[in-house]
Amino acid sequence: MESLELMKIKGIPLRVHPSWFLILILFTWTAQGQLSNVSDASLPAWMRWGVGLITALLLFVSVLLHELGHSFVALNEGVKVESITLFLLGGVARIEKECSTAMGTLRVAAAGPLVSIFLAIILLRSVSFANEINPLLGNLFGQIGLLNLLLALFNLIPGLPLDGGVILKAVIWQLTGSQEKGIRVASASGRFISLFFIIFGLWSSFKGGGLSGLWLIMLGWFGLSASRSQTQMLTFQNIL
Ligand code: ZN
Repeated sequence: MESLELMKIKGIPLRVHPSWFLILILFTWTAQGQLSNVSDASLPAWMRWGVGLITALLLFVSVLLHELGHSFVALNEGVKVESITLFLLGGVARIEKECSTAMGTLRVAAAGPLVSIFLAIILLRSVSFANEINPLLGNLFGQIGLLNLLLALFNLIPGLPLDGGVILKAVIWQLTGSQEKGIRVASASGRFISLFFIIFGLWSSFKGGGLSGLWLIMLGWFGLSASRSQTQMLTFQNIL
C-alpha cells in the first residue's frame, strides 16, 4: 500500500501509511472508553469521541516529535533524512546512510527517546495545573504524558531495531572500534528480546490474556523479521 504525503518539514516529507488510520480509529475508541472513568457525570457521546480523537491525534504528534528529534540530530550530523512515515506500529525516520562515527550514531539514536522523556516530564508535571482548568484537560495531559514515557521506555529496550539497540550497537562500536561487532551484539540482543516477547505473548494468550498476548506476539514477530533484514541498519524504528 502506498503512503500518503501530508507535508514537508524542513524538506523532510512526512508520510502516512493507510494502516495508520486503522490505529487512529482503535486509539480513538480506546481513549473515549477510558473517559468514562474521568468524569462523574456521564459525558455526551460526541464529546467522548471528540476528546478520544484529540487524544489519539496528540499521541501521533508525540510520535512525530520523537521522529523529528532523530531527524534534526541526523541533519546536524550531516546525514540526509529521506522521509518520516507514520504507520501501524508507530513511526519511522528513514535516513539516507548511517553516521560514519559511533558517537554520531549514538546521538541520533538517543535524540528520539530524549524528546519523548522531555515531553513526558513537562506534561506529567502540568497535570494538576491542567486539572484546575478542566478535569478533561488534566486527564488528557496525564494520558499523553504517560504514553510519551512508555514511548521512550519501550524504544530504549536494548535490541535492534529499537533505539536502545542502536545505542547498544554504538556503545560497543565505540568501545571495540568495530562497527560489525556492535551490530552483531545488538542484533543478537534484539532476537533474544523478540523471542522472549513471542514466548511471553503465547503464554499470556493461553492464560486468557487475549489482545495483549497477541500484541506481544506481533511485536516479537516484527522484531525478529526486522533484525533479519539488513535495511534495519539504515532505519530507526519506533514501535508502540
Ligand atoms: Zn526512536
